[in-house]
Amino acid sequence: GKTQKVSQVMGGALRRPALSSFSRGMQTVTLIPGDGIGPEISAAVVKIFDAAKAPIRWEERDVMAIKGPGGRWMIPPDAKESMDRSKIGLKGPLKTPIAAGHPSMNLLLRKTFDLYANVRPCVSIEGYKTPYTDVDLVTIRENTEGEYSGIEHVIVDGVVQSIKLITENASRRIAEYAFEYARNNQRSSVTAVHKANIMRMSDGLFLRKCREVAEDYKDIKFTEMYLDTVCLNMVQDPTQFDILVMPNLYGDILSDLCAGLIGGLGVTPSGNIGANGVAIFESVHGTAPDIAGMDQANPTALLLSAVMMLRHMGLHEHASKIQTACFDTIKEKKVLTKDLGGSSKCSEFTAEICRRV
Ligand code: NAD
Repeated sequence: GKTQKVSQVMGGALRRPALSSFSRGMQTVTLIPGDGIGPEISAAVVKIFDAAKAPIRWEERDVMAIKGPGGRWMIPPDAKESMDRSKIGLKGPLKTPIAAGHPSMNLLLRKTFDLYANVRPCVSIEGYKTPYTDVDLVTIRENTEGEYSGIEHVIVDGVVQSIKLITENASRRIAEYAFEYARNNQRSSVTAVHKANIMRMSDGLFLRKCREVAEDYKDIKFTEMYLDTVCLNMVQDPTQFDILVMPNLYGDILSDLCAGLIGGLGVTPSGNIGANGVAIFESVHGTAPDIAGMDQANPTALLLSAVMMLRHMGLHEHASKIQTACFDTIKEKKVLTKDLGGSSKCSEFTAEICRRV
């Protein structure tokens, strides 16, 4: 069905001139509601932020691929302008167009803002049944190169080559990001995940840069581990890991494995950190077209992404307040959405969190 804008879902609340937005300390965030369940879960987040009196002024922008000068795909100029100014975005899922030649919006956003670090905290939620109860780790994935460099070609009929691109600069900046994140978030160790035993040059370069950067962060323990060993150890005892940093493809796969340990994509938040101080936070799940517009979606993943965003902005008090209200609601099990084993609507679950903040 046709999706509604957040301002419509919210009964026009976003359009209301918010006097408080001019008060001191109010910060602007670009809100990209997205497709499918995106507008519903975005509206839920906006409501909860209002209830928690988070000092955020939302600037709603639609994002779809448009053709710019020279036939190049680009995001709408008003969305780009808003992101350039606010530097911070909260984004619902965007459907990937099936038409050939049409780019993935997520890829376009990544390129437009050079979102080089994908960050996914995986923390067990008390009261939500999962394979483990005490997972607390963060995967940090290099987001711009590796096997996803997009350089592929046919060598001869029946033989295709894909280039795995690893550069010194991208490896250093992701390693620096991981160690800075560890320091700023009171984390104690960083593990570099690699296959430098087989891919001696590419992963070897990545690992060398991690080792070099580690020298500047003596307060953080540094370890290195083969990807296959990480997978084995992760399913046996995830508590041994803290922060994991890795090239693109490994991060794509391992971060989903970690999401599985805490109950799946529906409760997993993420952040995409870019050069020039831009960052976009988003739920890991997709547009859930099967339940869109039915008030059934679970807003937890987007809400926890918004909590990550608050922490990124240094608004730790508001972040903790909202996170606690969300986790307590789940723990109490009285008001839960369907995917969490309950029978409540998205709006009821949202109201319960609002009541608690
Ligand atoms: P999906 O994550 O949208 O849905 C998979 C299943 O999980 C569905 O049954 C859905 O109902 C359920 N689900 C997902 N999120 C939920 C939530 N918050 N609450 C309750 N149930 C939830 O995956 P899909 O069906 O493979 O993808 C649908 C579309 O989303 C595709 O166009 C895909 O390209 C796009 N997508 C976008 C992103 C993104 O924008 N970051 C990520 C993944 C997929």
